[in-house]
Amino acid sequence: MNGLQRDVRASELSVRDLTRLIRRDQLEAVRRSVFIAIPVNILLGLTGTLVAFYAGLGRAGATWFAISLSINLARAGLCKAPLGGLLLTIDTSPEQAVAHEREIERQLRLASFAAFASGLVWAFVPTLCEGLTSASTTFYLVVTCGITAGSVTHGIAFARVPLCFITLPLLSTAACLVYAGGLENDCLAGTVLLYLLALARSAIESEKVFRRASRSKHEASAAARAAAAAHAGEAALAEEMRRRATHDDLTGLLNRAGFAHAAEAQPCDPGETRCLLLLDLDGFKTVNDIYGHQMGDRVLIEVGRRLRDSLPPDATAARLGGDEFALLYDPQQSGLEPSVVAERLIEAVAVPFGTVEIGRLGVSIGIQSAHTTSITQMLSCADEALYSAKSAGRNSYRMFDANLRAQRDMRRDSGRDLSKALVEEVLTVWFQPIFNQDGSTIAGLEALVRWQHPQHGWIPPGDIIAAAANAGLTESLLRFILERVCGLMSLLQELGLSQVRVAMNVSPREMAQLSVDAIVLRRLEELALPPSGLEIEITEETALGIDVIQDKLLRLADAGVRMALDDFGVGYASLASLRQLHAGRIKIDRSLVTGLSQSRDKNVMVQAVLNLGASLGLEVVAEGVETSDDLSALQSLECPFVQGYHLGRPMPLSDLIPMLSASRAAA
Ligand code: C2E
Ligand code: MG
Ligand code: MG
Repeated sequence: MNGLQRDVRASELSVRDLTRLIRRDQLEAVRRSVFIAIPVNILLGLTGTLVAFYAGLGRAGATWFAISLSINLARAGLCKAPLGGLLLTIDTSPEQAVAHEREIERQLRLASFAAFASGLVWAFVPTLCEGLTSASTTFYLVVTCGITAGSVTHGIAFARVPLCFITLPLLSTAACLVYAGGLENDCLAGTVLLYLLALARSAIESEKVFRRASRSKHEASAAARAAAAAHAGEAALAEEMRRRATHDDLTGLLNRAGFAHAAEAQPCDPGETRCLLLLDLDGFKTVNDIYGHQMGDRVLIEVGRRLRDSLPPDATAARLGGDEFALLYDPQQSGLEPSVVAERLIEAVAVPFGTVEIGRLGVSIGIQSAHTTSITQMLSCADEALYSAKSAGRNSYRMFDANLRAQRDMRRDSGRDLSKALVEEVLTVWFQPIFNQDGSTIAGLEALVRWQHPQHGWIPPGDIIAAAANAGLTESLLRFILERVCGLMSLLQELGLSQVRVAMNVSPREMAQLSVDAIVLRRLEELALPPSGLEIEITEETALGIDVIQDKLLRLADAGVRMALDDFGVGYASLASLRQLHAGRIKIDRSLVTGLSQSRDKNVMVQAVLNLGASLGLEVVAEGVETSDDLSALQSLECPFVQGYHLGRPMPLSDLIPMLSASRAAA
């Protein structure tokens, strides 16, 4: 049951509740009317007693008045006695209501009994006028009729009280009149009885009217309460819906929409700077993958709590989705530099997660300071800075600056211009030779994509690949490069250098998204080129998503295409994945090769990879040979293949052809 339903239910009146409330109203009215009537009753009694005195019945009158007065005082006391039952309301708990109901009924019975006692005293009025035969009979008759009429007029709420009061006096009057005898008295007695009946009927009808009025009053107020509750419920529901639309369920922080709304609603005075920090957890994916999503959720909740605790005052914080958080604050107001806030947040996230042994999480932060109200712009800049912080490693932060702006513009423009560059062949492929151990015989050629952008100059290959992915041109780019690779393979055949393999790089994303096997094998077949003349270089990251691509690799390897594991030594590849990737070659990453002659550690590592290659029957290429010393060091380690700027830089086909011709001549 939601809040709205509960409130409406609380405002509904059951028949039982309604009956109780009417009864309470009746009792209240009885107490009020009786209390008002008592002085009149006493006054009339006193007058009756005085008349009795004059008639010589002073003693009887005094006795009668004394009894009447005591009963009247008792009745007045009863009316004023404190009474819990009168506290009964629509909100009284059911148990309390039952107790109040009992008390109300008892009080009504008591009031009826007191009225009966008072009526009994008035039934003895004939004793003050010789059984309604003396000269003062008319006075007493009028007084008796008057007081009984008054009782009914006042006692409209609860008929039993006036009935108890009037019955005995009027019956005794009628009885005395009959007893006195004579037609006139008999007729009068009959009239008194009729009068009694009329009063009784009037009392009963009045009570009905009173009850109806009371019922209407309570029903109306219950309806008003129900309407108010429904309105309050609707308002609460609307508030809850608004909260859900703007807040993240898990952490209770704002969500992306709420954050944007809150940020844009904040005034940003001219010259005032706002700071946006965009956070992305390091290592969260591993928590989710290894410990499951429930643990992932717990970690996010805890991170949300820690961020909240470390925020500058008045900061706006949000979880934008996944493991991405954002916070916006005014550095002037808080007096905190964004770098200080970033360090504080990094420290907060680095604290171990209690008893849960999930290893330490980290957080990378991108920061943008600006005096703009456009949160979208700020988010885009902070995102760029975050991307850069992420690539710098865990737990680092980076401010968005001119360099990043240039990088972002480059990425944006390259995405926009790539398709044209492909069509117009501004994009091109260069080749870098791979040599035998001697460092002079070309053993292979690696195709490397090149693009000189009119505004941004040479675009790094990684950014070209990313731009293609963003522009949906991944397959076009792969086919474009494959075409150039095949062109070179044909040329090598013509030159009688078919033993020289051409290697093309295929990124993990290309491998996963495209049917690389089908595309490559079909094209080779169409051009009647032997698959053994082609090598595909894949990076160690590919080994992480091995399940998705294993079949493709197998098909390529079975057809004779050689697989080479690129950048070996800096990634995550396990020994098992070397087999799964069907690798025939390992390319030692240049970070292990450049400066090899100066570093014992690198020497040891290169030696280890060479040993591994030898035991698994894999060829080993050392990339990044930049000096003759490094070449000599590799030669003394008997590294079979070498590649690097010292031996040959990547070059366009036009520069490569003379080199190939020379190589053929030498062969
Ligand atoms: P990679 O496959 O490891 O390629 C070798 C990179 O090292 C090339 O950089 C090359 O120019 C550079 N290099 C070669 N020798 C030396 C040296 O002695 N010293 C130094 N400092 N660098 C050297 P490039 O062309 O910038 O390519 C970078 C990465 O981009 C490549 O690394 C490869 O992973 C990727 N890439 C390049 N072209 C393509 C392509 O057509 N498709 C795909 N998917 N990736 C490509
Ligand atoms: Mg490569
Ligand atoms: Mg490499």
